[in-house]
Amino acid sequence: MRIARFSLDGNVAFGVVEGDANTEGGPVLDIIKGHPFADFERSGQKLPMDKVRMLPPVLPNKVLAVGRNYAEHAKELGNEVPEEPVVFFKPSTSVCGPGDAVTYPSFSSELHHEAELAVVIGRMCKEVPRERVRDVVLGYTCANDLTARDVQRTEQQWSRSKGFDGSCPLGPWVETELDPADLGLMCTVNGEQRQLGRTSEMIRSVEDLVVHISEAMTLLPGDVILTGTPAGVGPLNVGDEVAVTIEGIGTLTNKVVKRD
Ligand code: MG
Repeated sequence: MRIARFSLDGNVAFGVVEGDANTEGGPVLDIIKGHPFADFERSGQKLPMDKVRMLPPVLPNKVLAVGRNYAEHAKELGNEVPEEPVVFFKPSTSVCGPGDAVTYPSFSSELHHEAELAVVIGRMCKEVPRERVRDVVLGYTCANDLTARDVQRTEQQWSRSKGFDGSCPLGPWVETELDPADLGLMCTVNGEQRQLGRTSEMIRSVEDLVVHISEAMTLLPGDVILTGTPAGVGPLNVGDEVAVTIEGIGTLTNKVVKRD
C-alpha cells in the first residue's frame, strides 16, 4: 500500500494512492480516516493526485541518518568504512516534500545530492530485537540527504552541513509492503544519471540500523532513518532538478532554487 500525505484548500490528510501515471485519469488518493499509525479506514472519498499538493509523507519528530554505509561511497570521499555506524541527526525543519523547491544554502558553495532509502517508523519502540524490526516499520520512502560538502569538511559536527532547511526531501509516499533487502536506487540530475546502486550493497542493513539506533533512543511513529548513499554523489547548482528513484517506491523530485 502507498500512503501519501497531502493538502487541499488548507486541509491536510493522508490518503492511499490508487493507480499510477498509466492509469486513465492518473492516480487518485483515497482519503484515510485518521492517520496511518493505527488501524485506519479508507473513506472511499477519492481525489485526483494532480489536484492536491503533495506533502512530505510524514512529519518526523527526528530524522536519523547513517554515514558511510556503502563502501564505494566511503571510498569516493577518501574515508574508511567505520567500525561502528556513523549516526547523525537531521532536524525536523530539514524535511520537505516531493516537488518542493530547496533553497541553495547561503553559507555553502558545494551542495551535494545523496540518494537514500528512508525507513519510516510506525510505532513507538525502544531496544527493538532484530526479529521485531519488521513490526515497528511502517514502510519505506525515498530521501535525499542534501549536504553542504564544503561545510561538512570544515566543521566537526554535521549539524549545519546536513541540517539546513530543506536538506531532507522525503517522498513521494510511504510504501508499506516492500522488502528493503535488494532494491535498486538511482539519482538523476536534470535527467542525467549520477548515482546508481542497490540496497544489498549497504554495509548495515535496515535491521542492523533499527537495532543499533533503538538501543540508544526511543523511536516514535513517523520518525525516519536514512540508510546511507551509494557512490556517485556530486554537485547541484541553482536551477537543477534532482530526482531520487527507488525500485518499488517511486520518484522524489526537487528543484534547487536561489535564495530570494
Ligand atoms: Mg547520507
